[in-house]
Amino acid sequence: MKTYHAIQELEATGIVTAGITRRHGGVSRVPYASMNLAKHVGDDPNAVATNREIFFKQSRLTALHYCQQIHSTRVIDVDHTASATLKQHPEADALISAQTGVALGIFTADCVPIFILDVATPAIGIAHAGWRGTFAQIAVNTLTQMQTRFGTLPTNCEVHLGPSIQKCCYTVSPELLNQFTERFGSTIRKGTNLSLQTANTIQLTEMGLPVASISVSPFCTACRTDLFYSHRAEAGQTGRMLSYIQLTTKN
Ligand SMILES: [Zn+2]
Repeated sequence: MKTYHAIQELEATGIVTAGITRRHGGVSRVPYASMNLAKHVGDDPNAVATNREIFFKQSRLTALHYCQQIHSTRVIDVDHTASATLKQHPEADALISAQTGVALGIFTADCVPIFILDVATPAIGIAHAGWRGTFAQIAVNTLTQMQTRFGTLPTNCEVHLGPSIQKCCYTVSPELLNQFTERFGSTIRKGTNLSLQTANTIQLTEMGLPVASISVSPFCTACRTDLFYSHRAEAGQTGRMLSYIQLTTKN
């Protein structure tokens, strides 16, 4: 069973491998069944290790860099880090690189995985954006770090917002909804629900990224627990998907 969903919008450029794992095809037991790739959620570490082996074999990725996620806006530059098979970086919620052959990964189960590809340089970034990261503008911070380190221009970027909880299911408190509306305008809300995808799209377009360069996954994780993990729909007891992006080796 194929354990991941490729991001066609980015892979079509021919310079990256990008995707998100799904919940089936691994060995974890309920409530993590079965392709949980995160060690921090209470799953059997041996099952997670086996799942990671299955994923590496299928995806053919050789080096994966990820970080200990804390709902911050901190970005780690792994551009000059030696490519170990698996490397966990300290506390942060985004990674950037211009190296080929190094995959950047983040774990989610409702939060928005934000994939950034600077087609011109080329360079990549990936960010974990729940409501905290979205409100604190981690997408902007990640793109700004790419500008500083690699000279990335927003007009040269393709962005994908991966499978995550959407406005059909993401009910939040009136206070939080008001904060988001004040900052991002009323298009981020639908009744009592919040669209993290719209809030992230708005902050990226404010930086000069063309709206046509942002693609959004059709999958809501809370609607589609048959395919993905959802922290909200599964009352906090569930696994995590891995979102990854890697610049492919030049031929
Ligand atoms: Zn939904």
